[in-house]
Amino acid sequence: MPTARVLGGGPAGLMAAEVLAGAGVDVTVHERMPSPGRKFLLAGHGGLNLTHSEDRDHFVTRYGESAERIAPMLERFGPDVLRAWAADLGEPTFVGSSGRVFPQALRATPLFRAWLARLSDLGVDIERRTSWSGWAGDVGSADRTLLITNETGHTREVTSDVTVFALGGASWPHLGADGTWVGPFTARGIDVTPLEAANVGVRVEWSDLFADRFAGTPLKNVSVTVSGGDPQRGELMLTATGVEGGLVYARGAAIRNSLKAHGRCAVRVDLRPEVSLEDVAKRLGKRRAKDSATNWLRRSIGLDPASIGLLRETSGGTLPHDAATVAALIKAVPVVVTGTMPIDRAISTAGGIAWTEVDERLMLRRMPGTFVAGEMLDWEAPTGGYLLQASFSMGVVAAHGALAWLEEQHS
Ligand SMILES: Cc1cc2nc3c(=O)[nH]c(=O)nc-3n(C[C@H](O)[C@H](O)[C@H](O)COP(=O)(O)OP(=O)(O)OC[C@H]3O[C@@H](n4cnc5c(N)ncnc54)[C@H](O)[C@@H]3O)c2cc1C
Repeated sequence: MPTARVLGGGPAGLMAAEVLAGAGVDVTVHERMPSPGRKFLLAGHGGLNLTHSEDRDHFVTRYGESAERIAPMLERFGPDVLRAWAADLGEPTFVGSSGRVFPQALRATPLFRAWLARLSDLGVDIERRTSWSGWAGDVGSADRTLLITNETGHTREVTSDVTVFALGGASWPHLGADGTWVGPFTARGIDVTPLEAANVGVRVEWSDLFADRFAGTPLKNVSVTVSGGDPQRGELMLTATGVEGGLVYARGAAIRNSLKAHGRCAVRVDLRPEVSLEDVAKRLGKRRAKDSATNWLRRSIGLDPASIGLLRETSGGTLPHDAATVAALIKAVPVVVTGTMPIDRAISTAGGIAWTEVDERLMLRRMPGTFVAGEMLDWEAPTGGYLLQASFSMGVVAAHGALAWLEEQHS
């Protein structure tokens, strides 16, 4: 019976383990934490957004520059198959109003428990509290022997016919994935793009007054433009240190690029995206003499206190008086982003093993027989179920790649 070692017990690794074991491979998973799937289970606290229901053409664009590499993986194991897989584990899914797909239980625990039971039935051995700590042999050698370290610090050498790496990125490191794999990989000459925070809040230097009053308040139905790109509509959450939420996450790559180039990034927030500039100015033109600025903005254009606070904050504390200037401000509030929150607060990680290092079946070109899946690779996507979908799909593709490679070795 051929053997496989899967490093990392997250969605990508466990999916690879399931496919390999289902094909009759003797699979051992090494997971450094006392239990696998911790990030997956945490994702369940937010309802577990497994995937998205939008059509394929839109779906693939969510992977930006990696769309071309990921598209064939979605063909192999796409949203419908993922939903069928969950249903088969006793957790049917539904499409929420935003098009996002969730398990009916809105939690990860029942699905994950059923999955672990299936893996056990398939004979998958999950060795908990065992960490991959590198490869045996000299740096630069092609030795595929793995070093596995247990919690007492004892390291042993293990081998297998195929290996699948699925050690994740570096966000929320206390859940297990901390990016320490980058060192041994780069030492072997594998090109790894530096890991960076993705789907993370951004920093804005709010005044104490504004932060105290409005942290935790959402700005609903606004649109955001970053570096002259297309405006995107949605909700922003004001925080004590800046802004977070799907709208900034979706433009994360553009924000990071601007921060790298200029040290800051000008984000324009349109507080009334459904009303034209002319109409905003017209409505503001009907100010009653006795109206305070707050009343004027609330009555004529329906701005809430947080939006009015933001206008004041970004115009030095005092609002301009004339309608045309205020209208222009409402349609493009300049918010200066000075940084992103740290990677340990990020939902996911950008960067990772360069696509040039793996073939279409996710095998490392420099290490035949070794495959990589999930957030370890250099891709990113916004929230919306795209992260888990790609991680699962890559687990499937890497496992099928490993099976094909095993067959080639014996033919
Ligand atoms: C708060 C939060 C909410 C999220 N919600 C969603 C959501 O609703 N929808 C969505 O699509 N995505 C969501 N995500 C993102 C999603 O969880 C990840 O993209 C996904 O888990 C990545 O899967 P992975 O298998 O590549 O890595 P991980 O899930 O990170 O798994 C990697 C595993 O490898 C183990 N490991 C690491 N290093 C070693 C080592 N040296 N030896 C042995 N084991 C090791 C880790 O302990 C971990 O178990 C969320 C993330 C967070 C943080």
